[in-house]
Amino acid sequence: MKFKFKSILTASLAAASLGAMAQAWPDKPVTLIVPFAAGGPTDVVARMIAIPMGKSLGQSVIVENTVGAGGTIAATKVARAAPNGNAIFIHHMGMSTAPALYKKLSFDPLKDFEYIGQVVDVPMTLLARKDFPAANYQELEAYVKANKNKVSLANAGLGAVSHLCGLLFQTQLGVELNTIPYKGTGPAMNDLLGGQVDLLCDQTTQTVPMIKDGRVKVYGVTTLKRLSALPNVPTLDEQGLKGFEVKVWHGMYAPKGTPAPVLDKINVALRAALADPMVKTRLAELSSDIPPTDKITPAGLKTHLEAEIAKWGPVIKKAGIYAD
Ligand code: ASP
Repeated sequence: MKFKFKSILTASLAAASLGAMAQAWPDKPVTLIVPFAAGGPTDVVARMIAIPMGKSLGQSVIVENTVGAGGTIAATKVARAAPNGNAIFIHHMGMSTAPALYKKLSFDPLKDFEYIGQVVDVPMTLLARKDFPAANYQELEAYVKANKNKVSLANAGLGAVSHLCGLLFQTQLGVELNTIPYKGTGPAMNDLLGGQVDLLCDQTTQTVPMIKDGRVKVYGVTTLKRLSALPNVPTLDEQGLKGFEVKVWHGMYAPKGTPAPVLDKINVALRAALADPMVKTRLAELSSDIPPTDKITPAGLKTHLEAEIAKWGPVIKKAGIYAD
């Protein structure tokens, strides 16, 4: 009986201290892990929401870039992090393609995380360096088919959306280009602007300013309707790449086992950030859509992630693309 009482006492003390921790959280700055290099679209979104999230939490939210392997290195780090709310994670649809792309994935997107909510949906744009010898999409298609792997195509690694967009583009044209992987499309964009790489498919959260300044060539957007921020840029679909559509959804995660009161506070902070007038204005300028409020929830994210894993698995397996 004594033993039973003791174990009940121990358990209730542990629960009480966990509850106290969760109530006191955050008692220090929170780290928001970004799985790609600084300056890229994921980093742009993270740094935009970090400030209003910090205001809501009463502690700074510090962005940390953990790069490599199309975002899977960062996802593994977060999956193994202590579930105390001090490390949270923002990642895009790469969370749903990784299980099919990586044979030896060291995390399970559906078991190793708690879900905070969806963050933002971002269209993509197909770009070339400013002096690339194709004035429009028709000329680009002809040039690429004539020159194939003499044309270089940048991406942010296996599992990045720039990789996925580039893959769909090559598959639809029936060509294989010379793909150059980077730690993120931030550095890839630097090389595109510098003329060291020919093509890049990247998200409007990074590319709208470069397109508007005329520092890159743009051939089309990857949505089926033109974008309000880029009304003169045709869709790839209307130029003949029928049904070509890639819109990049993003989610926020915490390590499995993070206490519910902590997850609730992070969700409240995320909602506050996405309701912030500056964030709303900036994301609209970058043609990015904030999801409806029922998607900025744990269930809204997990349900979407499950559906996306089911959708992309067969597509990737059919394309025969994977990393050992
Ligand atoms: N979103 C990545 C980045 O921010 C790029 C990608 O996934 O293509 O660099």
